[in-house]
Amino acid sequence: MTAQQHDELVRSQVTESNRRFSTGSGGRKPPVDPATGKLIPRSSWWGFDRVAWSNTKAMSLTFDICAVSCFLVFNASQIGRDFYHWLNANYTPFQIDFYWTFGITTVLYWAFAVLYAVVDLTSWPAAVFQYKVQPFQRVGFKEYGKIAVRVLWNQALVTLPLAYFKARLKPSDARVETLPGPLTSIAVIIFNILCTEIGFFYVHRFLHSPGYYQKYHKQHHEYTAPVGLAATYCTAVEHLFSNLLPNTIGTTITQCHWSLTMFTFCFLEIETIMAHSGYNLPFTHSSLNHDFHHFAFNENFGPIGLLDGWYGTNKKFIRALEDAKVRHRGDEGKARAELLSKIAEADLAAANQGREAKKDW
Ligand SMILES: [Zn+2]
Ligand SMILES: [Zn+2]
Repeated sequence: MTAQQHDELVRSQVTESNRRFSTGSGGRKPPVDPATGKLIPRSSWWGFDRVAWSNTKAMSLTFDICAVSCFLVFNASQIGRDFYHWLNANYTPFQIDFYWTFGITTVLYWAFAVLYAVVDLTSWPAAVFQYKVQPFQRVGFKEYGKIAVRVLWNQALVTLPLAYFKARLKPSDARVETLPGPLTSIAVIIFNILCTEIGFFYVHRFLHSPGYYQKYHKQHHEYTAPVGLAATYCTAVEHLFSNLLPNTIGTTITQCHWSLTMFTFCFLEIETIMAHSGYNLPFTHSSLNHDFHHFAFNENFGPIGLLDGWYGTNKKFIRALEDAKVRHRGDEGKARAELLSKIAEADLAAANQGREAKKDW
């Protein structure tokens, strides 16, 4: 892509975002800085309050470590072994690989996405809302409905057939006798995650190239401040090649046990919902990286950030982090925090009265 083509793509994205904001579609009136009384420029909307930055890199690993530990303990326990015995006694390998894999990942997706949606639509609890990375860009009920329809469409017409064909072709081994030990499990999980990083990064970057972006990826970028449910709000082509296939590279190469395949899929699914959630909650997977991709459009293409560091496609992101930390010190930081808590209070009061929040803050 030439520099000019690249700039044009960025410009069209920003214009689109501003139009959405000015018409109130999914947004609000342009925010006013409580300290100066002036409109806050769009460049300062992202990461408005410093509390959204409090989830450090080390803290964000907590979720990963806990999830892997729980999985290892379950597989090593008698409860875990009894579960795999029961599964194999009652279902065929095809049924386990198709029904159970699709069922668990689908239920998990909606359960996590709904949790974030409740906070998004009500600004409650305020203790969670304060971690909103882009508090001035909101998604309303109507748009949540539109997102839900598209997500269901992708699950029914892309995920379901893919799961069926995969299970028909070669179902994963789910026997209790072949359960992997902790070291093998950790090695396979790390390998699977690295495969996803590589697969997703290159497919995603390709989808940002002229010609392909408009056709296949623009829909996913409709929300410059994403929400958890919109993690798979995209075209069917993007869902297949960018969301699903990169996640299966590692499990296909390693031909790992069904439990490891399930863990990999569930783990990556929860992390992508967290990455799109718009909330950078302490001790969860950091959403800053991908949230910035939706905000700035031309940075942070990978899920982890390893290849973005390698290719230098995270420079603006790193600068934004530094700028925000400076900007958020002292009285201005306090004023920002107060403004956010007022928004949360106003939204909660409006939700309690069963009407939309007043937009005159
Ligand atoms: Zn993108
Ligand atoms: Zn995204």
